[in-house]
Amino acid sequence: MLKERTLEQSLAIDKQHIWHPYTSMINPLPVYPVKSAKGVYIELEDGRQLIDGMSSWWCCIHGYSHPEMNAAITAQVEKMSHVMFGGLTHQPVISLTERLLTIVPQNLKHVFYSDSGSVSVEVAMKMAVQYQFSKGNAAKNKFATIRSGYHGDTWQAMSVCDPVTGMHNIFAGSLAWQFFAPAPQCAFGEEWNADDFISMKDLLEENKNEIAAVIVEPIVQGAGGMRFYHHQYLVELSKLCKTLDILLILDEIATGFGRTGKMFACEYAAVQPDIMTIGKAITSGYVSFAATLASEHVAMTISKGNPGVFMHGPTFMGNPLACAAAVASFDILMMSNWQDKIKAMELQMKAELAPAASFDNVKAVRVLGAIGVIEMKEAVNMAVLQAAFVQRGIWVRPFGKLVYIMPPYIIEADELRKLTKGLLAVIYPN
Ligand code: PMP
Repeated sequence: MLKERTLEQSLAIDKQHIWHPYTSMINPLPVYPVKSAKGVYIELEDGRQLIDGMSSWWCCIHGYSHPEMNAAITAQVEKMSHVMFGGLTHQPVISLTERLLTIVPQNLKHVFYSDSGSVSVEVAMKMAVQYQFSKGNAAKNKFATIRSGYHGDTWQAMSVCDPVTGMHNIFAGSLAWQFFAPAPQCAFGEEWNADDFISMKDLLEENKNEIAAVIVEPIVQGAGGMRFYHHQYLVELSKLCKTLDILLILDEIATGFGRTGKMFACEYAAVQPDIMTIGKAITSGYVSFAATLASEHVAMTISKGNPGVFMHGPTFMGNPLACAAAVASFDILMMSNWQDKIKAMELQMKAELAPAASFDNVKAVRVLGAIGVIEMKEAVNMAVLQAAFVQRGIWVRPFGKLVYIMPPYIIEADELRKLTKGLLAVIYPN
């Protein structure tokens, strides 16, 4: 039995032994110990309550310790937390699949469950290569994407992240090389300029015999730059991919489940991907979980080809606990008036973040759905800003030049106001 530790002793163990995301073991960035979280509040060990502006990296859409989520997951624990998925199935995975098929693009009919967003991207990329292989196009095994994208930290996912902002440039020499087109310049909601698509068009036409699929985040490029691009880009991309027999993979991991104001961001362009990845908000942050969805055509081509089976099967595939959480999260979302709620959040953030556009250290302010972004002219000092946010009772984690919020959908207007006011006060103290 280990002896009880004081908070200071525990934090010393954390600092000495525990690697946190994107940080050093010699000089780690500060971490704040959390005691509990409820609704939109994160409670620190010292009793301070922080309004959550991050939805814990964009997944806790219904807030923390939600009574219905808690009840669903507790009930599932009593039955079974996990059984292997090879040769077995269960009601939670079937209930979840039935539900998901009612909201995803209608051509997507086949679901492959995995345990995190990055893995669902790996699975999507493997599906695309195996699809081409099954068609006798073994040489079509590369991927094309756009700059400023982000698809995860695992090996193939890294290869399609922006080589500079994707935080993976040190691995460039050992990663598979892929085809990159410039990021779209035409912003969401602006007038469409057909020139924006020319470089992608040229790239795909020139290299069509090598490219299995294009992978992009639809409309919102998240961790690679928080950019919102024109829906017509996706329309053009989808059309061209079809004519060149290149699959279109849409990564909806960050954008799915209402975050942009639509259930999935591809709805802005009325585009149906061949393969789609979803994760993050799927369990509203209760359990790590993700899925890769394939069209009938992709699934049938793989299944009729050689070897005729899709070659992937992680240990926690279809985890019942995660499925039960996802079913509960789905039902809570569908029973809520989420479209109105996100619209209200969008309007409020647009109004309240607008003054930042005139600050001389701010390059741009943009809001879409429940995403509010302030792009600074220079990279910020994350540790300094974070301490100032905590001081003001809000939880915001900026990166690079981006100070942004993606709050849980349950946030009240006055709580959101505290977030937006705090953001402005911290980035531009008078
Ligand atoms: N794709 C996108 C668009 C993401 O935003 C992320 C995570 N930020 C991932 C993939 C990777 O997901 P995970 O961190 O769950 O592996």
